[in-house]
Amino acid sequence: MNLTELTIKQAHEGLKNKEFTSVDLTKAYLEKIKKLDKEINAYLSVTEDLALAQAEEADRKILTGEFGMLCGIPCAIKDAILVEDQKCTAASKMLENYVAPYNATVVKKLREAGAVILGKTNTDEFTMGGSGENSAFGPTKNPHDKTRVAGGSSSGSGAAVAANLACFALGSDTGGSIRMPSSNCGVVGLKPTYGAVSRYGLIAHASSLDQIGPIAKTIEDAEIVFKTLSGKDKMDATSANFEFRISNFELKGCRIGVPKEYFVKGLDPKVEKIIKNAIKKAEDAGAEIIEISLPNAEFALACYYIIVPCEASANLARFDGIRYGLSGPKGYPAKDLLDVYLKSRGKGLGPEVKRRILIGTYALSSGYYDAYYKKAQEVRQLIRQDFEKAFEKVDMIFCPVSPVLPVKLGEKTDDPLAMYLMDIYTISVNLAGLPALSLPAGKAGDLPVGLQIIGNHFQENKILSVAEQIEKSIKF
Ligand code: GLN
Repeated sequence: MNLTELTIKQAHEGLKNKEFTSVDLTKAYLEKIKKLDKEINAYLSVTEDLALAQAEEADRKILTGEFGMLCGIPCAIKDAILVEDQKCTAASKMLENYVAPYNATVVKKLREAGAVILGKTNTDEFTMGGSGENSAFGPTKNPHDKTRVAGGSSSGSGAAVAANLACFALGSDTGGSIRMPSSNCGVVGLKPTYGAVSRYGLIAHASSLDQIGPIAKTIEDAEIVFKTLSGKDKMDATSANFEFRISNFELKGCRIGVPKEYFVKGLDPKVEKIIKNAIKKAEDAGAEIIEISLPNAEFALACYYIIVPCEASANLARFDGIRYGLSGPKGYPAKDLLDVYLKSRGKGLGPEVKRRILIGTYALSSGYYDAYYKKAQEVRQLIRQDFEKAFEKVDMIFCPVSPVLPVKLGEKTDDPLAMYLMDIYTISVNLAGLPALSLPAGKAGDLPVGLQIIGNHFQENKILSVAEQIEKSIKF
């Protein structure tokens, strides 16, 4: 039996039946990481000693016979989520030596459930990017084709689960960062409803859009992790009073909306074929396929790339070389306070992060605020309303995650606009605060393609239930 290939459910059964221990499981992953990760670069740090200590603790709990689904299961955490006493770099030089003083609420919950943390995974710097190439510590490679990107920003989490370097992982999604790497790497990723999971201890990118969620091998596994993560947290005022209950929602009779604006020029025919095939499978199983319209979809990208840099420029002001982060690089004594800021931020932050701070600061400055930020907020409302109208007619929406197959490493790095365009199908969901998941739907050659299933607010149970029925019929 190859321990690293097991799902959470299977590993749990194995632990229960004493076929192996959590220490066995953890060691199997640690060995595999040592062997494979030099090439893939999914992990920024591996916390071997801590993982083994946590596994021993889990084994003691397992001996008592009373333990939950995640007890003793090894996982990976995106390096933008705080794990107490461990480095949290957000893949930035700015935070290269930053050690987290406390656990994020999601980490606290995973630890209370007995999960074992193997390490911290690579991401685009401060989660800004869609390919994983904006990491200051090198890109993550796609395990299915190492000349291609894993997708970002939760690149390491997607690749780690796909390459069996973790049983499951946490990612965060501001505009697609859980779904994109899940689609590219052929794993399941769930971006929860805004507010369903606490953001406390997540390094903020754009606070009105950020959500943490699971990346896993199967829908069932994603559901187990989501159930553990979700719920109200007094440390995050935007978290909702929401209790997730697993339920059965039949694919037969389900009304599935397909947005006509999403199947147009720019969508790779290979991706389109796989998505249409998945839609056909749903129809064959008795779902009703309904064409819908999201008339403001064409403005989503412009709206997102104003709101996100605005919020990011405010959130990243704290990385000034004094309160946090790299300070006045050695050998360049600063003349005065402004010089400390300039030198620290100049050296510490990468080009995409600087670009967003510049755009955001500009769009928020007096005289431009109304023309850009306020306008974008109004458009955001229209996008929300598009979905509200759609959900009067349908139960969920099916569409691609990405318009293209995973691109070659370096192929688009010189062209930020081309990079932003790849987010076309994922960002509206964040602007509207909706839940959405990526389900492996097929492959074009070696390259996985994810089907995106979007639900109405707090209807994770519906989309997970339908996704599970499709997962069975697709047999990825
Ligand atoms: N690619 C998108 C961006 O660059 C999404 C990032 C994210 O979800 N963290 O903003």
